[in-house]
Amino acid sequence: MAGTYTLTIIKPDAFAAGKAGKIIAHLEQQGFRVRAARVMHLSQDQAGEFYAVHRERPFYGSLVKFMTSGPCMPMVLEKDNAVAALRTAIGATDPAQADAGTVRKLYAESKERNAIHASDSDENAEREARFFFAESDVIAAR
Ligand code: ATP
Ligand code: MG
Repeated sequence: MAGTYTLTIIKPDAFAAGKAGKIIAHLEQQGFRVRAARVMHLSQDQAGEFYAVHRERPFYGSLVKFMTSGPCMPMVLEKDNAVAALRTAIGATDPAQADAGTVRKLYAESKERNAIHASDSDENAEREARFFFAESDVIAAR
């Protein structure tokens, strides 16, 4: 799957605001294809484990609270060079710093409530995809 797939999450702020469809349309327009998707309300344990790498950061508690505040939408996306392409498409963590036309510039509220997650490496994309999906849930690459 390296290079071809990445894992994204439409976060609870964007999902609750009814922006999921617009975000998916935006990404499809840019050539991403949805290969697995679900709607789920993360538990404290799930959000804590997903963001375990940030456990020591000052925003960790607030981040876990935000990510458990309502349903979100994890998806596996396919595109050539998917990880780098999606990082470019979503823009900087803080929407105030994000380039024009990026998902976060268009749809994020703040640095924390920033609409969307994207894996930052092929290794993490694989790990994060397995966090939410069984291998049989992911539609095979072209
Ligand atoms: P993501 O991992 O969600 O794709 P990212 O890689 O741009 O985003 P990270 O540094 O991995 O950002 O932080 C993970 C998430 O934690 C961010 O997307 C954001 O929701 C939140 N976050 C990051 N930095 C801060 C901060 N300084 N204050 C509040 N929340 C933050
Ligand atoms: Mg990150």
